[in-house]
Amino acid sequence: MQPFDCVVVGGGIVGLSTAWAILERNPQARIALLEKEESLAHHQTGRNSGVIHSGIYYKPGSLKAKLCRAGSRRLIEFCQMHDIRHERCGKVIVATSQAELPRLNSLYERGIANGLAVKKLTQDQVREIEPHVRCIAGIHVPETGIVDFVGICRKLGELVASSGGELRLGTKVHSIQTRGGETVLETTKGAVSSRLIINCGGLHSDRLATLAGAKPDARIIPFRGEYYELKPDRRFLVRNLIYPVPDPQFPFLGVHFTRMIDGCVHAGPNAVLSLKREGYHRTAFNLWDFVDTMTYPGFWRLVRRHARSGLEEMYRSFSKKAFTRSLQKLIPDICEADLVPAEPGVRAQALRPDGGLVDDFLIVNNRSGMHVCNAPSPAATASLEIGRVIAEQIPRCGAIQA
Ligand SMILES: Cc1cc2nc3c(=O)[nH]c(=O)nc-3n(C[C@H](O)[C@H](O)[C@H](O)COP(=O)(O)OP(=O)(O)OC[C@H]3O[C@@H](n4cnc5c(N)ncnc54)[C@H](O)[C@@H]3O)c2cc1C
Repeated sequence: MQPFDCVVVGGGIVGLSTAWAILERNPQARIALLEKEESLAHHQTGRNSGVIHSGIYYKPGSLKAKLCRAGSRRLIEFCQMHDIRHERCGKVIVATSQAELPRLNSLYERGIANGLAVKKLTQDQVREIEPHVRCIAGIHVPETGIVDFVGICRKLGELVASSGGELRLGTKVHSIQTRGGETVLETTKGAVSSRLIINCGGLHSDRLATLAGAKPDARIIPFRGEYYELKPDRRFLVRNLIYPVPDPQFPFLGVHFTRMIDGCVHAGPNAVLSLKREGYHRTAFNLWDFVDTMTYPGFWRLVRRHARSGLEEMYRSFSKKAFTRSLQKLIPDICEADLVPAEPGVRAQALRPDGGLVDDFLIVNNRSGMHVCNAPSPAATASLEIGRVIAEQIPRCGAIQA
C-alpha cells in the first residue's frame, strides 16, 4: 500500500480548508480526506449560525483575533470568486442595562484594538438600524456578515477533488498507529497509511489526538446550542444581526438574532451540556460520551465555578417561556407564539483539567502530524486561515517537500 503524503481526518470546514491549502502549496502531494459521515459539513459546520465574525470579541494578538480578521476577508473573496451566497450586512451589539455599559465600552475598545471600523451608537441610532430593539446604547460592527458555510464546503470539496485529493466519505477512523515515518489509520473501509495526518475531527478531535499518541491536555466538552426560528410573518422584527453584550466569563456570545443567508431569522443559540457529542436532541445520550465528561476532573471544576448559570441555561432549554424572556430583553415585541424550534448544533469546546475553558484555537503537534484540538467559533470564519497556518507548518514536519 503506497502511503499518502498527508491524510486529513474530518470533512468539516477546517478539514476541507486545510486539505485545500496543502494542495495549493504542494500540487504534487498525494492527499486524502477521510470523513465518517456520507456528506461534508454534517456536524458543527452545517449547524451553526452562518455568521462571518468580524473578530471584535477576541483578545488582540490571539490566534482567534488574527485568524478571524484575515479569515473573514479571505472568506468573502472566496465567496465572490466562486459565487457563494454571502452578505456583509453588519451587526449591532446592544446594552440593555446600565450594568452592561462598561462591558460594551470594553468591547468597543477591543474592536478598535483589533483594527475594526466599530462605531458607538446611541439608543436612537441603534433604532435607525434595528427599529424593534430596546436598549440604552450599542455598537455597530460593519465588518460582520452572513454566509452559506455548507456551500463553501461543497466548493472546497470540489477544489480538493479537482486538484487530485481523494475525498473518502463514510470512512470512520477508529485506530491510529505511527511506526517509523508512517502512520496507519484503521477505518471502517480498511487501512490507510500516510506520512502525516492532520486531525480536524471537531467534536472527536481530542480522541483522535489521543489515538495518535498526542497529549492535548484538554478534553472536548460538547455544548448544545438550541435555536428558535421566527415565523415568516414576524421576520420584519429583525433586519440583520442583533447581539447582547456577552458575559466575559463565558466563551459563548449569549442568545442573539441572526438573519440567515436564506432569509429566515434564527434566535439563539443557548449553551447546554450535551450528553452525547453529536447529540442534537435534548434527550440524546451516549454512555461513552457521558462517562468521558463525568469522569473528567476539569468538568467538575467548571461546574463548581458556573453552577448557577449552567442551571439557568438548562431551565431555558426546557422552558420556551424563559428562552423568550431572554429574547425580549433585546426585542420586547417578540412573543412565544412567534417562535418555532429550529435545528440545533453542538459546539466542541476544549476544557483544561483545571476547569478552564481553552479560549484560543489549539493545535497540537506530535510525530504523527498535527491535531486541531480546539476550533470553536469563529473557526468557520477563520477556516481558510487555519488551513493556511497548518499548510505552512507542514514542510517543517518533513512529510511534504514545499
Ligand atoms: C451552534 C453553533 C453556532 C456557531 N456559529 C458560528 C458562526 O456563526 N460563525 C463561525 O465562524 N463559527 C460558528 N460556530 C463554530 C463553527 O461552526 C466551528 O468552529 C467549525 O464548524 C468547526 O469546524 P470543524 O471542521 O473543526 O468541525 P466539524 O464541522 O464538526 O467537522 C469535524 C468533522 O470530523 C468528522 N470526524 C470526527 N471524527 C471522525 C473520525 N473518527 N473519522 C472520520 N471523520 C471524523 C466529523 O464527522 C465531522 O464532519 C458555531 C458552532 C456551533 C455549534
